[in-house]
Amino acid sequence: MAAGVPGRSTAAHRKNRAELKKLTAEHNLPCALCGQAIDTTLPHTDPEAFEYDHIKSIKTHPEIADDPSNGQPSHKRCNQNKGAGDARPGLGDPSEVW
Ligand SMILES: [Zn+2]
Repeated sequence: MAAGVPGRSTAAHRKNRAELKKLTAEHNLPCALCGQAIDTTLPHTDPEAFEYDHIKSIKTHPEIADDPSNGQPSHKRCNQNKGAGDARPGLGDPSEVW
């Protein structure tokens, strides 16, 4: 196991993620991938939960993996769809009207 994967498990990434989540909650920032609101109080296991999205892939841009400007809010589900290379829009069941 590596000591820390940039953009995934480093202290810098945890800090970036926590700060972005706080900003998302305070300003009701929408998901950057589908444009819908994010409920930051949902547990991380929920597909609608907040997830830190790397604008530029950490695989192709490891040098900016922990750069806060490379992060944007997203839903866990949307981020996973993106990660899988499937660009279908994140249209799900709207669980809440904001
Ligand atoms: Zn989304």
